[in-house]
Amino acid sequence: MSGVGAGRGHGGRIGRGDYAAQRKLNAQTPRVDHLVRRIGDLFRPYRGRLVLTAALVLLSAALSVVPPLLTQRVFDDGLFPASGRINVPVLITLVIAMVVLFVVSGVFGVWQTWLTATVGNRVMGALRVRLFTHLQAMELSFFTRTKTGVIQSRLQNDVGGVAGVLTNTVSSVLGNTVQVIAAFVAMVLLNWQLTIVALVLMPFLVIAQRRVGQVRARIAGATQESLSELTAITQETLSVSGILLAKSFNRRRSEIARYADENETQIGLQVRQAMSGQWFFAMVQVFLSSIPAIVYLIAGWLITGGAHNVTAGTIVAFTTVQARLLFPLLGLMRVALDLQTSGALFARIFEYLDLKPAITDREDAVSVTTAEEECRTDRFETRAPQASPAPGRSDHRPGIGIAFEDVVFRYPDAREGERATLDGVSFAIEPGQFAAFVGPSGAGKTTISYLIPRFYEASAGVVRFAGRDVRELRGESLVSHIGIVSQETYLFHASIAENLRYARPRATDAELEAACRAANIHETISSFPDGYDTLVGERGYRLSGGEKQRIAIARVLLKDPEVLILDEATSALDSVSERVVQQALDSATSGRTTIAIAHRLSTIVAADVIFVIDGGRLVESGTHPELLALGGVYARLYTQQVQAAV
Ligand code: ATP
Repeated sequence: MSGVGAGRGHGGRIGRGDYAAQRKLNAQTPRVDHLVRRIGDLFRPYRGRLVLTAALVLLSAALSVVPPLLTQRVFDDGLFPASGRINVPVLITLVIAMVVLFVVSGVFGVWQTWLTATVGNRVMGALRVRLFTHLQAMELSFFTRTKTGVIQSRLQNDVGGVAGVLTNTVSSVLGNTVQVIAAFVAMVLLNWQLTIVALVLMPFLVIAQRRVGQVRARIAGATQESLSELTAITQETLSVSGILLAKSFNRRRSEIARYADENETQIGLQVRQAMSGQWFFAMVQVFLSSIPAIVYLIAGWLITGGAHNVTAGTIVAFTTVQARLLFPLLGLMRVALDLQTSGALFARIFEYLDLKPAITDREDAVSVTTAEEECRTDRFETRAPQASPAPGRSDHRPGIGIAFEDVVFRYPDAREGERATLDGVSFAIEPGQFAAFVGPSGAGKTTISYLIPRFYEASAGVVRFAGRDVRELRGESLVSHIGIVSQETYLFHASIAENLRYARPRATDAELEAACRAANIHETISSFPDGYDTLVGERGYRLSGGEKQRIAIARVLLKDPEVLILDEATSALDSVSERVVQQALDSATSGRTTIAIAHRLSTIVAADVIFVIDGGRLVESGTHPELLALGGVYARLYTQQVQAAV
């Protein structure tokens, strides 16, 4: 269904934001009808409380019908009885009964609000955690192709947007339905002819309400879409990196314009959302408010026609009940509208929940330890004979070997016909070896490092870890054996100690210090006024590049993995810092299988084996002297770097 109708109704001049809003509207087609069951499923764990809520709602709704019936008795038996004299005892009894009823209803109301608020918020909280948990399971490529702000917006704006519906719907639907039914029964009991008059136009209102709901659902979807765009712009431009970029390229004005533009769209949509249905509600209000007047008219007509059951008490009671029908009816219509509107938000939430993580554990996946034990006795020893341990390697470590067998890899978002990023790469790294990957920029070195912890899945061929195909291993177990230090160090906006403990939450202060000493950073940290409690600032911007790198190395040392991947860990540093970081790395790599990706060949000349990658292929391998003697790509790269340094 097109969303154009939503805009037409408002007519007039269309502003800049309105065009963008219209574009977003056209893109939305929420499938509201399919969502009801799934929304219902969310409430399943709270069945007990819902039953109690329903009982309270039913009770208080039933109670709410009694006062008008008492009103009839007050008029016909207390104030104006057939005897013509006011009946004081009956009047007092009836008034006391009414007050008691109101008190009881009030207490039930508060209890019911507490129940619905707790259930609604628990359902929303559970939904938020479910979405967060699901996103955590998504593969890396999902995050490389989705804006962070857009993901954040689904978690915050969309889940937050359904909060009202989750907290109010149950009680509102139950309460209002019961009140409507009870009022209807009371009206029929009082006078069925007047009831027909009062309700004759109801079906038309319901049809109109459905139409309004559909329009509002589309607007709500578009509003959330625009809101997520706004969040994405904020997240991109108001981060430290974003603001640095905007300032250094003098792009502040254009960033403000981009934000203002999307904001304009948001305003347009919000106004539409606020306005849609207003005429409908005004019409309903007029209609329902006019009914008493029509009832008086029809009652007069019925009395003239000789009807005896139309007493003054009946007319007063009937119009009282009918007035009581107004709010529950309006309430039901609003809930129906809100449900339709929030359907668009639920659709967005379920869309993310329905995403299938591309990389998951097989049912029969094993942990690396199990694999190691098996491999030590058979497979690994026959496949990849153990090399002598690297100097300093702890003897208790069984050591882990890594092998690629004819691995082909294409990034998931690569275009049809595009050359494979890795094209038939095979190599074996023995346990405890220091292996280096070198080659021109874009050759595929980092990609190789992503395939080992299974951040991406090889398109063909096998990646082996401790002799096992990584697809046979449990993801958590695999990653627990691997430490990664990348070129870009990510630190949380927290203290240095908290950042370090990300690797091992229960590490003692002494262990933190030992890791930092090994990473050549303890002295620096101790010189800060707050020492290990120093806040590193957003993404560690309060630290120098070298300091951040060394903290990252200390963090990985705390993790103490058997396999260490260093992706250009020193490339951003000057030669003094590089020397300090290099010393840190030397202590980090001893005793582990190490994979170092390096541009500066001076850092890897001592490697046990050097693999040269070019254009996604392994073109050379050997030690530094062997590769120099070969006189190929490596020798050329090395000569260029040595000459450049002179
Ligand atoms: P450098 O030395 O410059 O870091 P590299 O050898 O590590 O380069 P990779 O980062 O592995 O190279 O990238 C190899 C190729 O894959 C490049 O052409 C790059 O453009 C492409 N590539 C990297 N990441 C993605 C991605 N997420 N989606 C699509 N293509 C990608």
